[in-house]
Amino acid sequence: MKPSNKSRRILAVFAHPDDETFLAGGTLAKYAARGWGVFLLCATHGEAGRRGEYDHLTPEQFARLRQQELEAAAHALGIRRPLFLDCADQQLARDCWASATQEIIRAIRRIRPEVVVTFGPDGISGHPDHVAISQIVTTAFWTADLTSVLPVESSDLPPFAPSRLHYVLRSASVPQCCEVKASLEAPPLTTVIDIRNYSVRKLDAMRCYQSQKHLQPEDPSVVESILREPENFHRAVPAWQGPAVERDLYPQSASTLPPSNAAEPILKR
Ligand SMILES: [Zn+2]
Repeated sequence: MKPSNKSRRILAVFAHPDDETFLAGGTLAKYAARGWGVFLLCATHGEAGRRGEYDHLTPEQFARLRQQELEAAAHALGIRRPLFLDCADQQLARDCWASATQEIIRAIRRIRPEVVVTFGPDGISGHPDHVAISQIVTTAFWTADLTSVLPVESSDLPPFAPSRLHYVLRSASVPQCCEVKASLEAPPLTTVIDIRNYSVRKLDAMRCYQSQKHLQPEDPSVVESILREPENFHRAVPAWQGPAVERDLYPQSASTLPPSNAAEPILKR
């Protein structure tokens, strides 16, 4: 994963394979097509989502399958090959908090993204992994420029502060199928991204998740709404002043390109 200093960059961080596609796939595809570097970190392999015809697979085999599905989805969206944090599915808050925070800070320092995208505090469904990754990424966003939180390990990883933090909200591609695990309030809508020119890519990416057939849109009216409707976000940082929603994650007028002090930092694991 090699960020170019010539383009702007988005770092999206989600909990499970498929979160990125269903919630923000059209947006990620749109910015990639615009020439942005679009990077994706997935905290787990989603191995707890095994069901039906996949029951005969071991958790390790199913984790590999879900990794392959996410890699295929990322290819369909036109974004960079995803990286995994190797946290255990359903255990993000219990077992992986500190290590995931440090890994995401390192990723922010290597990639130097203008925009970070993740779950909001509601986790869409209140899923513990979604809520945990929201809090972990928000902490990393605020502290990636502090050497007191994570010391600089080498000269090619200087502290860095991204400009914007966006939380995903429900949109047409997230049916009311998901069991709500906790009743947490979603933040308000501030940002609407028109994905109509990229919704076919999003649908293609959704179809890559054959192990999650229960999430696949089959109803033609649902497919039609995915093709037509925008993706929704809450801009957490800088605080949204409203009242009208914005229609870009990072308007051209937001700032000039940040100075690059690392020639071509490579994202290592
Ligand atoms: Zn998820």
